[in-house]
Amino acid sequence: MWEKNGRYDILAWVMTLVSKSGRQTHEIWFNPETGDQATRCPWLRKLPKREAYVCRIHDMKPSRCRDWRPGSRSVAAEIGCRGFDP
Ligand code: SF4
Repeated sequence: MWEKNGRYDILAWVMTLVSKSGRQTHEIWFNPETGDQATRCPWLRKLPKREAYVCRIHDMKPSRCRDWRPGSRSVAAEIGCRGFDP
């Protein structure tokens, strides 16, 4: 998806590992400058002057994020998650 959409800024944070058999696996998020695994998601941004956060790659976020749903609509509203959006 990221390659198809030219999102090399996102792909830069993906580490590709190749096993001895040649099988590739991809791990997120690794700092492209240091190679270190990020301690928090690099795409999470706090909204100015608010206790709310947004995902800067909402339409391109990884499947594990797309598949996650908060437990209730009130929790979703509280954390600014769009998991209950139609
Ligand atoms: S939804 Fe996923 S990609 Fe987006 S900020 Fe949260 S952890 Fe990062």
